[in-house]
Amino acid sequence: MLKKGTAALLLVLLALLAVLYVGVWTRGSRQHAVPPLQPLAVNADAAAARLGQAVRLQTVSSAEDADLNADEFQRLHALLAQQFPQVHAQLEREAVNGLSLLYTWPGSDPDAAPILLLAHQDVVPVAPGTESDWEQPPYSGAVRDGYIWGRGAWDDKGNLLAQLEAVEMLLVAGWQPERSVYLAYGADEEVGGLRGAALVAELLGQRGVRPAFVIDEGLLVLQGVVPGVRSPTALVGVAEKGYASVRLVVRAQPGHSSMPPPVGSSAIALLSRALTQLEDHPMPARLDGVAGAMFETLAPEMQGLSRLVLSNLWLFGPLVKRQLEASPGTNAALRTTTALAVVQAGNKDNVLPGRAQAIINFRLAPDDSLDDVLEHVRTVVARVVPAEQFALEVLPGAREASAVARTDTPQFDVLSRTIREVFPDAVVAPGLMVAGTDSVHYGAISKHIYKFSPIRASSGDLARFHGTNERLSVAGYADAIRFYHRLIQQLSAAKMAP
Ligand SMILES: [Zn+2]
Repeated sequence: MLKKGTAALLLVLLALLAVLYVGVWTRGSRQHAVPPLQPLAVNADAAAARLGQAVRLQTVSSAEDADLNADEFQRLHALLAQQFPQVHAQLEREAVNGLSLLYTWPGSDPDAAPILLLAHQDVVPVAPGTESDWEQPPYSGAVRDGYIWGRGAWDDKGNLLAQLEAVEMLLVAGWQPERSVYLAYGADEEVGGLRGAALVAELLGQRGVRPAFVIDEGLLVLQGVVPGVRSPTALVGVAEKGYASVRLVVRAQPGHSSMPPPVGSSAIALLSRALTQLEDHPMPARLDGVAGAMFETLAPEMQGLSRLVLSNLWLFGPLVKRQLEASPGTNAALRTTTALAVVQAGNKDNVLPGRAQAIINFRLAPDDSLDDVLEHVRTVVARVVPAEQFALEVLPGAREASAVARTDTPQFDVLSRTIREVFPDAVVAPGLMVAGTDSVHYGAISKHIYKFSPIRASSGDLARFHGTNERLSVAGYADAIRFYHRLIQQLSAAKMAP
């Protein structure tokens, strides 16, 4: 016979297991069941060749020099006009601030709120010295072995030309939208979008345009990247992190190296302590918010233990959090990150400097404001540096995190269904975009901004992004065209308010 204590323990364990399984059972799949869609016939080889031509133009943008490569951007504009004749015959095209493009396709229903598709024309440079590591020269635009190769094939000329391919096909078929469709293509996304997207957004705002739906580059259809989920996972960015660089200046009595002050009181020692404190005490990680919504959506799609654990965050939350904090990618999705970026102090070995400074870069989670970050830094630094000996300054270029787009809307519904129509094996979940996009500039004119690139990627592909051997598969490119083709039609017919 079991001892009384053992029996009681077993009973408790059984009860706990039952509770955990209730957590699993009550969380059914949130995926839309959509009937399979007959894949649209796309001439993928011809489309790939057109994308290759666009990749050949070296539209590298520069933060300092607005005119850098202006001729390459102009050549891209001319190329697009030649490649997409119906788009250029039937849509209005405006150049905004010289190099950014805005296309307007008027809808038949003037009362229906418009939609806005975004992409960018510019690319990041190829890191000097890595040119010979490319399997195809970085601006070749070569179509080889089933891929379109070159800088920009994926980021972001793939999205840009896929949208134009879709619109061209719709126009050729004689289809016209009910709601107006805007296409906006910035020329300086990679350096912040202030000369492009920011001005296009301002222009649309002045014209009273309030899009009911905005889509921009973003998260991807990830294969084998999200642990525990066997299906490809289409993550839709519903928010974008903010950005702040804070300068911390610490002052102390300057002196001579021959007679250093008491331990820990020099400017460099104080700054070092402050930086260690800041790194040891980041802003809190949270499992609610966007990351929580992602796990709630994905938990029912997982198998075995992962599913059990993620369906019972009330119990396993702290454990899951610790696990996710251990990897930089998932850590960045949970919190405002702290990165020690620049340190400056001293210039001579026999002089103790009176001043030491550092720049710390923060990427703000949607729940933290710039004020919260500054307050956090002040509190943490004050633990080790007397208040009168340090000063903080937020450097220009800081911005709050974007608003979080809702997922209980017809907009998100149409987007999720369209993803599952074109990528039938994928599950869809909201996610947080940790990098910047042009869409952040459109927050003043729309609440419904989604950051999603209809492109499949495995973990091995992610290093190609801004890296070496950037490429896009021809088959994947055809799917991207199918996605935009379907999305534009589905959005046009949907009932949506701005
Ligand atoms: Zn991009």
